[in-house]
Amino acid sequence: VLDVQAVHKRFGDQPVLRGIDLTVAAHEVVVLIGASGSGKSTLLKTANLLEQVDDGRILLSGEDITDPRTKVDAVRARIGVVFQHYNLFPHMSVIDNVTLAARKVVGTPRAEAEATGMSLLTRIGLADKAQEFPDRLSGGQQQRVAIARAIATDPELLLLDEITSALDPQLVGEVLDLVRELKTAGSTIVMATHEMSFARRVADRVVYLKDGVIVESGTPEQIFVDPQQPETREFLRRLQ
Ligand code: ATP
Ligand code: MG
Repeated sequence: VLDVQAVHKRFGDQPVLRGIDLTVAAHEVVVLIGASGSGKSTLLKTANLLEQVDDGRILLSGEDITDPRTKVDAVRARIGVVFQHYNLFPHMSVIDNVTLAARKVVGTPRAEAEATGMSLLTRIGLADKAQEFPDRLSGGQQQRVAIARAIATDPELLLLDEITSALDPQLVGEVLDLVRELKTAGSTIVMATHEMSFARRVADRVVYLKDGVIVESGTPEQIFVDPQQPETREFLRRLQ
């Protein structure tokens, strides 16, 4: 689904991604871990064309999306994104938030978009909140709505960046449970997280980034139980 090839990115004279190669297969869940500033968010942003790569290229289902002729909106319509801070539109009801992209970007008729939206809200246990505005929901509920919105158009790829880091600890679980459900349902997901226990439970593959380089990647077992690189061991040891 996603093929990142030799991607380099710098901000000013600071290199932030230094030759990233990463392939994500359909239905795979890849979790990016690494210290603050290691380039996780920047990598996710390049995949969604929120940042341009300086070198290398990124393929989405075989199509080079870093080609300058690419239509950015068309690419973004194929990718669902959720960031750390709730990205819901505060002046719109929950159901309008969830159905907006389908109605405006894809052109789905309102009734059809709302039927899909309601079944999504039912799935995440928030059907009774459809007419509420986001500020009447808890942080965890808002993030679940943001995820529902991201998957409403059935994207090829889901990018999740620290989606639990602004939440109170007791709300983290409900959001992570939803991500696990998406995985079971077959979504293709790349997510950055500082929640190692979650990375361990949900990832098919864990990728450890340091200073814009992939130091090591492997199954959760390989990375958390038997890391091969001294830098990976050091990173994990410091977290304990
Ligand atoms: P965190 O775990 O804190 O979210 P991260 O791994 O997501 O960190 P990035 O946000 O990708 O790290 O940032 C990587 C580096 O790029 C950092 O040094 C950051 O300061 C720098 N950086 C990120 N975005 C920009 C920007 N728009 N302009 C300048 N520098 C930036
Ligand atoms: Mg980040």
